[in-house]
This record gives sequence, structure tokens and C-alpha cells, in this order.
Amino acid sequence: MSGLDPEDFAPLRALAHRMLDDVFDRAERMGEGPVWQAMPEDARQAFRQDLPQQGQTAEALYGQFLEQIRPYSNGNPHPGFMGWVQGAGTPVGILAELLAASLNDNCGGRDHAAIEVERQVIRWASEMVGMPADSSGCLVTGSSLANFIGIITASRAVDPSMRQHGVSGRRLVGYAAETAHGCVSRAFDLAGLGSDALRLIPVDELYRMDDQALAARIREDRAAGFHPFIIIGTAGSVDCGAVDPLEALADIAQAEKCWFHVDGAFGAFARLSPEHAIMLDGIERADSLALDFHKWGQVPYDAGCVLVRDRAAHAQAFAQSLSYLTRADRGLAGNAPWPCDFGPDLSRGFRALKVWMTLAHYGASRMGEMVAECCDVARYLAERVEGDERYLLMAPVALNIVCFTLVDFGDEAIDELVKDLHESGVAAPSTTRIEGRLVIRAATVNHRTTRATIDAMLEQIALLGEKYAQ
Ligand SMILES: *Cc1c(COP(=O)(O)O)cnc(C)c1O
Repeated sequence: MSGLDPEDFAPLRALAHRMLDDVFDRAERMGEGPVWQAMPEDARQAFRQDLPQQGQTAEALYGQFLEQIRPYSNGNPHPGFMGWVQGAGTPVGILAELLAASLNDNCGGRDHAAIEVERQVIRWASEMVGMPADSSGCLVTGSSLANFIGIITASRAVDPSMRQHGVSGRRLVGYAAETAHGCVSRAFDLAGLGSDALRLIPVDELYRMDDQALAARIREDRAAGFHPFIIIGTAGSVDCGAVDPLEALADIAQAEKCWFHVDGAFGAFARLSPEHAIMLDGIERADSLALDFHKWGQVPYDAGCVLVRDRAAHAQAFAQSLSYLTRADRGLAGNAPWPCDFGPDLSRGFRALKVWMTLAHYGASRMGEMVAECCDVARYLAERVEGDERYLLMAPVALNIVCFTLVDFGDEAIDELVKDLHESGVAAPSTTRIEGRLVIRAATVNHRTTRATIDAMLEQIALLGEKYAQ
């Protein structure tokens, strides 16, 4: 025997067919069974073993997958999953993952089809939000990294020599709404700017950044000798789905000669729904943008994306010339620039295939309808909450996130109720704080969530509500 391939492929092929049948049997019945269940101790123990010296058959390992992994998974493909901001995946996305794995492409660079597919996907993403067709970009793990790349690119645009000398002594500061995702402040920290250099600007009654407060804070910072370099708008905030006034922020960025970055992690997809697109006006003026195909784009994890309007500025922040990565005018080392010139990763998988197959299979108009349907389900939940004296709607519903609570329920009761709800297997929303109060937060990012799912969740919450009523 040589290498790791089997001598006889037939048994493995038969197992593979069985796996595929099981995968699609489950996909056809998604929504039966609990959205989530806690992993029992014996299943956890199965993954606390010593490194095996001898191998087991793929068949045995598949048995273990079916018994000890699959039943205790994250649950986001299930219609009842409404927690955090998670996409649900699609059947075509599952297939794309299989096909990509079969090629084992390393998409750091070089001249092969996967790189062209990724460029296609980046152009489609730019088209989707209205950024120029020649914007640069790359696929990354998620918006956490995409926001980091945007912030690094913006800071290196101030002075490229920061790459050699570090931030040393520069008093760079940036701005985001106080409701911005935590990864933005962490990106400032990771970039060496320090999280204090991110000024958190108050929001208005609709949870959008107050642009007057932004302008005032920039003036104050300049007067104190700071160097404002970036304004970060959020298109779809993580706690309640608010969209910052992007046009106003773009105007201020232009006047103040600041980079305009948009965190559109999930919200950018609202651009595909004609009815919602208008809410994102101004997003097309972004100098850089983060979005996640794995959220509202329904592409299997992980598939984040960063776009940068000025590709020279983007490459200037990341490209290196290294003897072992020399670019050629032909041969496998051709076709520069490479994705590794646009971000910190070198070896990277073929994420673009699942993104390309998802967008090409459903088309932008079906994706836009799906986004509108998710917003419709959220609106339905908000209406049911508002029409029921047991509940309180805690924040305006801009897109697909509904924050609500039970009248007279304190933080502890909500916390217990949501844990019970998860364990009931009926639905899995998460929680957040609105005006200091812990509330239930249901995000319909899932294309399988319907009004019936909402009804089932509310029925279960009502049952649990009685349990915790004092
Ligand atoms: C999810 C999210 C992020 C982080 O994205 P990841 O893909 O989880 O890294 C950033 N910003 C917003 C608004 C988000 O919803």
C-alpha cells in the first residue's frame, strides 16, 4: 500500500452514498426534532480520548458522527434557530463544500480556477452593494476579520510606513456607534491602535449613530491633537438591526478626509430586497465594507468577505515580496495579484465555490425575496408581541431582529426562561441588553423560519412565562 488512499475504493464509495442519502434525508425533514439539545456526558467523554495509535474504519467513525456529533450540533439549519445572527445553510451549499474538498485547492494564490471564482464572487458582492466593479476584496472567516482588514487598510492609507515602524506616536482615532459590534473595538486593539482609540458615538431613539454627535466628537478630537482617520457605519446592528445614517456618515467622512468603512455583516444583504434596499442608501460610498455570506447569504460556515474601493490601498496594506512567493508571468505561479496580497492569510480554502454556487443557483432576485420573507416573519413576531399584553416590544424593528420581553420579568427570569426555551428544543433565540434590561432577542436570519415557527415559540414562551411568573 502506498499513500493514504484505500486499495479498494468500493466500500468507501458505498459509505459515501449512504452518507449523502442521510444528509438529504435530514435536509428534507429539517425542523423535525429539537433545534438543539445538550450533549450528554458520555458523548462528551468520547472526545476526551488519547491520540489513537491505530486507525478505525470510516464506517465506524461515521457511526460515531451519527450518534455523538450530529444530534448535538449547533442547530442553525433548524427553523427554530433565531439566536445571535446565524445563517441556515442550503442543500446546494452542502454539495459545494463536498466539491471544494475534493479539489483541496489552496487559495492563497497561484493560477487556477478557484482564484477566478473568488474574483467573480468579489465582483458580485461589489455589485450587490453598489461599490465599483473593480473594488478589491477577498473571502475571510467572517466579518470580525473583514472589519479588521478594513481598519488596517484605512490606517495604512494614512501612512504606509506604519507597516515598518508601527503606530509609534501617531494619535489615530476612529468612530463607530456605541452599538457597533464588539469585533470593531477588538480590531482597534489588534491593530495596535488600542480600543480607546475607537470613539463610541451615542445613538438616537432608533438606535442609529447620532451624526451630529459624531461631527462634534471629531472637532473635539482634532482640537486635542488627535488624528481622526476612520468612520465606521453599521448597516444592521447586532442587537436590534438598526442601520446608521450612511449618507450622513459618508458626507462627514468626505469632509473630514476620513476613511468610510461599513460593517454590513448581515445587513448588507438587505440591498438585494427592492423594498429594503433604500434603507442602506450610502453603503455604496464605502471605502471598505465587511459582510458575511454565512449569515443572511445562507452560505455554509465560514464565508466572510471584505471589499475595498481602492485596490492599490488594499494591496499596500498587506502585500509582501517574498522569494518563496515569487509571481511569474505564466505557469502555476502566475495570475497575480493573489488573495494573500489582500489579507493576513496565506493558505486558505476554496470558500468561493460555495458562495458562487449559492448566488448562481438562487440568483439575486430569489435571495432578495428570501431577505424580505425573513423581515416579514420578524414583523409578524413584532405584531404578535405588540398585540399581546403579556409582552413588551423593546426596540424598533428595522429589519429582521426583534427584541422583546415579558411584562414584569426581570433579568434573572428572562435568563432562566431563555435557557429553558433552548432546552425545550422548540426555538433558540438569544438575549441582549436594551437600556440596561436583559431581553429576548429573535433574529430571523434563517430562510426556514416561518410564521408557524414564531407561533410555536410564543406558545412555549407563554407556558414558561407562567412557570416564572411571581
Ligand atoms: C456577526 C457580526 C459581526 C461578526 O462577524 P463574524 O462573521 O461572526 O466574525 C460583526 N458585525 C456585525 C454587525 C455582525 O452581525
